[in-house]
Amino acid sequence: MRKMTLFNGKTIEIECLSCALTSGEIEADGGAIVETEYFHAHQDVAYPIVGLVILASKRHIKCFDELYDLEKVDYINILSRIRKAQREVLGIEHVYYFYNEDTPHHFHTWMVPRYEWMYDFGRSVESVRPVLLHARNKLNNDENFKSVLDGIKALKKELNP
Ligand SMILES: [Zn+2]
Repeated sequence: MRKMTLFNGKTIEIECLSCALTSGEIEADGGAIVETEYFHAHQDVAYPIVGLVILASKRHIKCFDELYDLEKVDYINILSRIRKAQREVLGIEHVYYFYNEDTPHHFHTWMVPRYEWMYDFGRSVESVRPVLLHARNKLNNDENFKSVLDGIKALKKELNP
């Protein structure tokens, strides 16, 4: 067990944040965006970017080659459904996908929408960290937080008809 401070400032003791989120033990702000048999999508509002989605497996695995065949199919289907919803309800033209296997949590893919302002931090992979830090440190205001929650609501509606 290790102590972890959540986005809302609460401290909890958990084995794995991804397990806690995907099992419903704790709930991300805005709740689950969509759930399938093997995956769970939510937003980490600590990075307040409209339409940012984190897609986590329900099973505690770290590496891509640990996925079972049924999970692989489920993964690509839900990933592309979320992508389509980002485009259709939020007008997101491009998305960056980020996934690292040496995570302290477990298998999860970040889907980070690209907005005009992000190009000030460069193109491609080198801009991802500064973009996320900028969002966390500079976009952390009530108005933007509200936009983020509206984005979550819109995605939920589209993905759970
Ligand atoms: Zn886990």
